[in-house]
This record gives sequence, structure tokens and C-alpha cells, in this order.
Amino acid sequence: MITVLSGGTGTPKLLQGLKEIVNPSQLNIIVNTLENNYFSGVYVSADIDTVLYTMSDMINEEVWYGVKDDTFITHERLAELGCEELLRIGDIDRATKIQKTQLMKRYGLKKACEIQAENMGIESKIIPMSEQQSDIKIVTDIGELEFHDFLIKHQSQPKVLDIKFSNVSPSEGIIDTIENSDAVIIGPSNPITSISPILSLEGVHDALKDTHVIAVSPIIGSGAVSGPANKFMQALGIEVSSIGVASLYQDFLDNIVIDVKDFHLKSQLNQIVNKVTVTNTIMNNLCVKRELAQIIIDSIP
Ligand code: GDP
Repeated sequence: MITVLSGGTGTPKLLQGLKEIVNPSQLNIIVNTLENNYFSGVYVSADIDTVLYTMSDMINEEVWYGVKDDTFITHERLAELGCEELLRIGDIDRATKIQKTQLMKRYGLKKACEIQAENMGIESKIIPMSEQQSDIKIVTDIGELEFHDFLIKHQSQPKVLDIKFSNVSPSEGIIDTIENSDAVIIGPSNPITSISPILSLEGVHDALKDTHVIAVSPIIGSGAVSGPANKFMQALGIEVSSIGVASLYQDFLDNIVIDVKDFHLKSQLNQIVNKVTVTNTIMNNLCVKRELAQIIIDSIP
């Protein structure tokens, strides 16, 4: 059994490769819920939905958000009525979100995801990291911002001074899932807003110490492939490099996968992590995704 810790852009790309070489029923995916919130009356769990759509081959790979070839009739009609939505939610995507909102009220988020994964024919377990509502604030030079306001309204432009998020409890069974895995893969997701929230759940850190852990660096050279990870790392005083990423995970990390462009960091990284794997990690096509997934799986002792 393999467990993957995921956000909503970098790791889903790796999941596309993993699901081709690992029996999907042998994959557990623990997904970040830090940024979940209600928008336009529906519960938006963006990272979970991206993982659901990725595993069911519905994902819009242009933005790693929503469903490919979706229409935006509701979104556009709402705008005509004077109700501008912060998030551009497609019609099919909205149906998923409406159903999730209803299921959640009845059964909670974990069960809601289980039902939706089954409806979409997904054999892997997709587990929200927590069923509790998180509170995240990006402290910037123009004031304290809600996460989506920072990301969408302000296009991640303001200078980031700090990131604050509340602690939540892990959803049921997460620790057992990690402990019963042959390996845990920390995907190339934002270390601050996607992975750290999962790592800070009670018991996760200790469980990872007893498991083989492989991380793929989302930082290549001195920058993120996409998104504001570099701004967030900088704000918290963490070096923006695969060394910074490794130092965040070093207590439990057994193997870090870095890009060929960072080959020169190998010996420095070896002082922090036992094993350093160097390969192409820019996942711009399925072949690279599959090869990267294979290298990771082959490295598991
Ligand atoms: P979010 O939930 O949308 O913020 O997405 P994630 O946290 O899953 O992913 C964001 C991170 O993915 C960024 O820090 C990127 O650097 C990283 N990323 C995206 N695509 C790639 C890729 O092809 N390779 C690597 N190594 N990292 C990637």
C-alpha cells in the first residue's frame, strides 16, 4: 500500500503517472483541506476535487482546477445578475460541489469524498486530511488576507510577511493509513500551504518517522514550478530551494527526489537526507509523469 500526501497542482500531476503503474486500489491519497471554504453557497474543497477529477480523468489540466471542457453558464448568468463570483466555477464542477455540500451535511466530509470517489469509478482512497474547518490568513504588506483573496483577487502579488493557520484534528484513520503503508510519497506540492497542514496534524509526524518517506521537491533551482510557494517559504525564513524543502521534512525523510537542474545540490542534500534521487521532475507530459512515478516506486526498499 502506498500513501500520497497531496495538494492540488503538483502532486496530481504525479498521481497521473502513479495510477498507471500502481494498482489504484493500492493507493491512498491524503489531501490538504486548509483552503476549503464556502463560496456561492457551496462547499469548495479545491484540492480534493482536483484529486477526484485527476483520478477519474476529468481534470482540466490547463489550470489544475475544475473539469475539462466544462461550461460556465451558471457563473456567467450570476455575473449578469450582479453576483460576481470570486471563483470561476464550471457547471459540471458546481454539480460535484453541490452534491458534496449535501453529502457533507449528512455524513461529514470524509464519507462525502468516499461516496463521490465511488460514483466517479475511483478505486483509490481519497481522504481529506481533516473534517474540521481550517482558518488560514496570509499576512501581507497590504494587510491580512483570506487565502483565495490573496491568490485570485490579488493574483499572489502582495509581499507575504507571514502565514497563519489554525490547527485541526486529523480525520479518522489517517495515522493507521500512514502506519500501514509500505511508503509515503510527499508529492511536489506547496510545502507551506499544502503539505505542512497535513504534517502538523496530531500524530502524523511520529507516524512518518516509522515509515519510508520519499518527497519530490516542488522547487527547482530557486523557484516554484507554479504558484506562490517561493513567496511563502521566503516569508517563513526557509531557503527557497530543494535544500529548504528537505530541511522542512528532514525529521522523517528517507529519500528526496530533485530535478536534474539541481544536481549540484546533491552532496549538500546528502548531509540532510540519506538518499537523493536526481531525475527530470518537470511533469509536462504523461511520459515524464510515468517515468518519475516508476523511479519513485522502484526506490521503495
Ligand atoms: P495548490 O494546492 O494548487 O497550491 O497546488 P500544490 O500545492 O499541489 O502544488 C503547487 C506546487 O506544485 C508548486 O510549488 C509547484 O512548484 C509544484 N509543481 C507544479 N508542477 C510541478 C512539476 O511538474 N514538477 C515539480 N517538481 N513541481 C511542480
